[in-house]
Amino acid sequence: MDKKIIPLADMRYAARVPHVPAHLQAPTGLLADTLARPLHDLRISVTDRCNFRCSYCMPSEVFNKDYAFLPQTSLLSFEEITRLTKIFVAHGVEKIRLTGGEPLLRKHIEVLIGMLAKIQTPGGQPLDITLTTNASLLAKKAQSLKDAGLQRVTVSLDGLDDAVFRRMNDVDFPVADVLRGIEVAEKVGLAPIKVNMVVKRGTNDAEILPMARHFRHSGVVLRFIEYMDVGATNGWRMDEVLPSAQVIERLQAEFPMEALSANYLGETAERWRYLDGAGEVGVISSVTHAFCGDCNRARLSTEGKLFLCLFASQGHDLRALLRGGNYSDEQISAAVGHIWQRRDDRYSELRAALPADQSLPGNDAARRVEMSYIGG
Ligand code: SF4
Repeated sequence: MDKKIIPLADMRYAARVPHVPAHLQAPTGLLADTLARPLHDLRISVTDRCNFRCSYCMPSEVFNKDYAFLPQTSLLSFEEITRLTKIFVAHGVEKIRLTGGEPLLRKHIEVLIGMLAKIQTPGGQPLDITLTTNASLLAKKAQSLKDAGLQRVTVSLDGLDDAVFRRMNDVDFPVADVLRGIEVAEKVGLAPIKVNMVVKRGTNDAEILPMARHFRHSGVVLRFIEYMDVGATNGWRMDEVLPSAQVIERLQAEFPMEALSANYLGETAERWRYLDGAGEVGVISSVTHAFCGDCNRARLSTEGKLFLCLFASQGHDLRALLRGGNYSDEQISAAVGHIWQRRDDRYSELRAALPADQSLPGNDAARRVEMSYIGG
């Protein structure tokens, strides 16, 4: 059956210039939204480019040779990213995840990591700095990333079989090189390493058990992610979603496991432990078991737009405040506070309450921002 690809309505430009409150209040580090969710994690997309074309994120039909990627001048500079990060940290952010596209494609990313690693929380603690990568450049860069101050990495790997892997990411890149990247990252101390596998029923779900067998006893935490209706281009269909409950069933049939409690508030993965001590796996169930209730994640796009939800269709243009109007940090901080305090996003929760063929009123699928633009 032909995949329905929706032409990309370029939502990169749909953003409001934030309101700057007249009354400036010093950040308290305890900023909460309308559902009492604190601002704790900031995901920063440092490039909209990638050298893979994963069908669930950057389908090659859309992100082809004619696709207009962002010009360098429109990307936030490392100084601008660092300035914004300090503002978010004062509001309570303690964890930074660098994403993309493929973040290791951003030149001199180690310089940015070095700048972020100098920032401390109001309590004097270092930030928890991690990065999500397809590992195509990890073997080469792991040591310099570690030296710059990166603590951990999450690697996207959708199968061990090269043909299946290719079907998921649409490029000719050997799985062996991804595994090599994981090995080197482990060796230089970028651990604990997490591996994320997006499961698409009928495409790579037969890789669930081979992946589990491969990473047992390795110390790597393997997570299975339900295929999501992110963005507007991946032609998502509910019948291609394999619910996490079925993933767990398949694993349990071979490896007895028990459920674990979350490591921290807002953790996206449901954790499971092999009873024979072979390690931990997780499932991330945005479609069948939404976790919006304690979602404490903000996303900064490559060119400085703040998005409050992965499924948002409108951003807040912080770059406009950085580059225009001579706003102080206090004013930008007040604007960020004003935005988060009015946040009420809970797309997955609301979507889960609807029949599969119905889209959420007010969340026009064709207008959703692309995951490759704001990071997963
Ligand atoms: S759907 Fe939006 S609000 Fe819900 S968990 Fe995902 S990013 Fe958070």
